[in-house]
Amino acid sequence: GKKRTVVNFGPGPAKIPEEVLQKAQTEFLEYEHTGISVLEMSHRSPEFDGIMKETEKLLRDEMSIPNEFEVLFLQGGGSGQFAAVPMNLKFKSSSGSADYAVTGSWSAKAADEAKRYLDVNKVFTPMKPYTKIPEKSQWKFNADAAYVYYCANETVDGVEFQQPPELKYHNVPLVADISSNILSRPFDVAKHGLVFAGTQKNLGAAGLTIVIVRKDLLGHAESYTPSVLNYHENHKMNSVYNTPPVYSIYLTKLVLEWIRDKGGVHALYERNKNKSALIYDVVDDSQGFYYCPVDLSCRSNMNIPFRVGGRDGNSDLEKKFIQGAEKLDMISLKGHRSVGGIRASLYNAVSEEETRKLSEYMKEFMVTFKT
Ligand code: PLP
Repeated sequence: GKKRTVVNFGPGPAKIPEEVLQKAQTEFLEYEHTGISVLEMSHRSPEFDGIMKETEKLLRDEMSIPNEFEVLFLQGGGSGQFAAVPMNLKFKSSSGSADYAVTGSWSAKAADEAKRYLDVNKVFTPMKPYTKIPEKSQWKFNADAAYVYYCANETVDGVEFQQPPELKYHNVPLVADISSNILSRPFDVAKHGLVFAGTQKNLGAAGLTIVIVRKDLLGHAESYTPSVLNYHENHKMNSVYNTPPVYSIYLTKLVLEWIRDKGGVHALYERNKNKSALIYDVVDDSQGFYYCPVDLSCRSNMNIPFRVGGRDGNSDLEKKFIQGAEKLDMISLKGHRSVGGIRASLYNAVSEEETRKLSEYMKEFMVTFKT
């Protein structure tokens, strides 16, 4: 196939590995002698059942998911899970409350959505701007919480947990949103009761939401829970309660095969650390020309927000930075509207070579514009 020249630093939907797109292209019209495309395939056909089973097996292998967990393929995105989590897990709390660690805009959104269904206890006062995770000794846990919720990687703010938080009450399940760092680093599913991720950043296309949930948490959803968001209903029907996003599941299977062939999550983690260091090093060596507000202890390997021209950013320089990058075929570097500046998203599919192109550009831009 034709080699693409655009480097996509978008936060999601994000770059999908070329090898995956090429494989999908060769199978686009006809999947394995079925005479039809996966797009046209019944979700109850043996061929699609095979795709689902293989996708789950690959995910279990690559994430080392223990047997006491079920894997669900749902829809509704991470945002759907902001509601599904409280509706399905509220039963765990006699007072109807849950603990939330708000470390960025996505966990803040999750906490706001959860308030519709239960009492939200923020385990610490969120700091704004979101640049730091408070010391564990400052977290105020609630013994009767249905669960403790956190976002493993804040896509907008670039704040990432290096380890899952240690809980005070071990009967309270830990819930993680891993939408933007799934399979980018080793991650201990067993420390959690439930984790979820949309696949549009590190695992394929938009449309599929993966939920990994401990078996004992199934079957107690609030009665008002929509069936499509009810974990138990979906599990009983092997994730075909209703028509699943067949093509997105197929693409995730291809991405998981790619991850396996790259050496798995440990190899990707090494690569991801090297990639993010290429950018952070330029920022930290720039004597304030570039500025990343995130504390060193929780800087993300996946999403790097930074300003150009000082701590508060110089909007003229930032515009020039983005335009200059686009001239060199590097796209989607604009920071989220809530934080401004620049954001480089370095998901698994972004190569070291592509990241080096950005870091070289940053050095040259600084030589030209630093006063
Ligand atoms: N959680 C995180 C960490 C995200 O980055 C996003 C989207 O960017 C979401 C949740 C929301 O996901 P969705 O758009 O699939 O609802």
